Amino acid sequence: MSDPIVVTRFAPSPSGELHLGNVRTALFNALWARHHGGRFLLRIEDSDAARSQETHVAALVADLHWLGLSWDEQPLRQSQRYERYNQLLGELLASNSAYPCFCTTEQLEAGRRAQLAAGLPPRYSGTCRHLSAEQRATRLAAGEPATVRFAVPQQGSVQFDDLVHGPRNVPVTELGDFVLRRADGSPAFFFCNAVDDADSGVTHALRGDDHLSNTPRQVLILQALGRTPPRYGHLALLTGPDGSPLSKRHGAASLRQLREEGFVPAAVTNLLFRLGHSSTEAALLGADAMARAFGPAHLQRAPAQFDPAQLLHWQREALTALTAEQAAVWMGPQLPADLPDSQRDAFVAAVLPNVLRPHEAAFWVQVAFGEAPEADADAQAAIATAPAGLFAAAAAAAALHPQDFKAIADAAKAATGAKGPALFKPLRAALTGRLQGPELGPLLRAFAADVARQRLQRFT
Ligand code: GLU
Repeated sequence: MSDPIVVTRFAPSPSGELHLGNVRTALFNALWARHHGGRFLLRIEDSDAARSQETHVAALVADLHWLGLSWDEQPLRQSQRYERYNQLLGELLASNSAYPCFCTTEQLEAGRRAQLAAGLPPRYSGTCRHLSAEQRATRLAAGEPATVRFAVPQQGSVQFDDLVHGPRNVPVTELGDFVLRRADGSPAFFFCNAVDDADSGVTHALRGDDHLSNTPRQVLILQALGRTPPRYGHLALLTGPDGSPLSKRHGAASLRQLREEGFVPAAVTNLLFRLGHSSTEAALLGADAMARAFGPAHLQRAPAQFDPAQLLHWQREALTALTAEQAAVWMGPQLPADLPDSQRDAFVAAVLPNVLRPHEAAFWVQVAFGEAPEADADAQAAIATAPAGLFAAAAAAAALHPQDFKAIADAAKAATGAKGPALFKPLRAALTGRLQGPELGPLLRAFAADVARQRLQRFT
């Protein structure tokens, strides 16, 4: 018999923008499905109407596509599944795995206080669990507001084997009878979430650590419905370098902001692949290699630290791996609109190694295609101390070979005997106004005809 197909899912609540933490969850689920040739699903957890917004749904879909993730079916939306949830609540009520609870907020609060006073963890006392069928029917018929509570078994424990935390064994005494549907008719989040996984045939659910405490209740619900819970794996939190939960002040922007800043998808995925997932792969990985190398066995229990320097490291690697065409698209918004292809390609090739974000190319756009930038102090000093005749020889060579920096430097060297920094510093300073920057050979190939000569001529 072949292995059952692996089905994973990402189940965001559309209450805000995707941040690195949720994006990592999405990526890991997608990689695990792909690792097995299985299916990856997207589910929109919009059961909380007050906090869900349609704009966030559209934005997260766009974010995930940008990252290179796609899913196998039309996404389920919890807001469209109330009938299904009510049907299953009906089954649980019919089998006495759930019961209506008429306790008022005041009664629940009094019970809570009594338990705390007795030194016990506050759990529902079970008052309504013991009502007779007639009592329930009468009170419901009278229109008394009721929640639906799950009847937690009175003995034993809930067992599950977490993909990250290993085998767990939670005594039922730690779980009070919990609410499945509120008095206003809205189903509880963890009920919908468990039912959806079962209905979609989800086999593995990687998700944030904050859901670990929901898991025993979800396992009980699915068992009572005769369904098999997925294998859950709870991912440790992402933190900043200071160990506190990752937030904006650590430079961890939303995915949209990173995209708008010019980070490329491979930089983000390669960073996330190594956050809380140990990897011996030091090289930039493409999607297939990443899927092959991904495995829950490599997931770490300790919180993973986000380091902005690591993001820049992977950005460098990812930019280096772009094709010339992709690099031109990436830098495109910075480039003059009517630039001939040959100049554009030469410019991108020259400047790409020197920038991490497209906006950093703006200065070099000015150098290559604009007015000569004013030399800074260091460049002025290098120009002032250049050997006599250097610029004249260089300008004459530039008139003959405008885009050939080697010919220009060779001529200046022959005329003056200067070499090394004494040769290159004044030339770079005159051509670009700076002493640091992209390699001059490739950069000059982006210059328009006669630009190099004119810049050198100024100092003869
Ligand atoms: N909607 C939940 C969240 O965004 C997902 C929980 C889960 O993946 O099971 O945290």
